[in-house]
Amino acid sequence: MLRHISTVPRPSLRCFFCDQERPASPYYLRLQQAGMGLGALPVGMLLLRGRWGFVKCFLCDDCRENALAVRRLRWTVLLVTLLLLPLSFFVLYPLVMPAASPDQTSFGEKLLVGLVLGLPLLNVVLAPFYLHFLLRRRMRRLLHPETDRYLKSLGVVRNWGFWSDIILFRELPRGEKCLTP
Ligand SMILES: [Zn+2]
Repeated sequence: MLRHISTVPRPSLRCFFCDQERPASPYYLRLQQAGMGLGALPVGMLLLRGRWGFVKCFLCDDCRENALAVRRLRWTVLLVTLLLLPLSFFVLYPLVMPAASPDQTSFGEKLLVGLVLGLPLLNVVLAPFYLHFLLRRRMRRLLHPETDRYLKSLGVVRNWGFWSDIILFRELPRGEKCLTP
């Protein structure tokens, strides 16, 4: 079966992220920065509140893929963090729970139960912190230093990490305006 292959050549433009001349496509980049709030710590849901703004740019395929991978990393870690709780409480805990009465429970069994219940809870507390450093490192690798400085100068994102995010759109969503002409 013949696969449809686009034969329309794309112009080589300077990619906004890597600053290299490559075949690139236009995107609208949504920058967003969440306000600090305790309610956001466990799930990062307040990311949609805070400030945001759009920037029109051209991106090469590699940078587009890498930007999507950064988003995937965030949501994968958050999803796994949340799923670990019911998994350990309702599946692993009944499996490792000692059958004997508490005074006959060995130290090893108590330790195992403690780990099964404690580690996922500890992970909920720690996930925003290690995710912050992972995302910050990935964004530094993704953006050319000039682009990084420019995006931060727009007054939306202060620093990359857990509290900030970028989302790519093919078209500017209705009612939104670009930060730059
Ligand atoms: Zn690029």
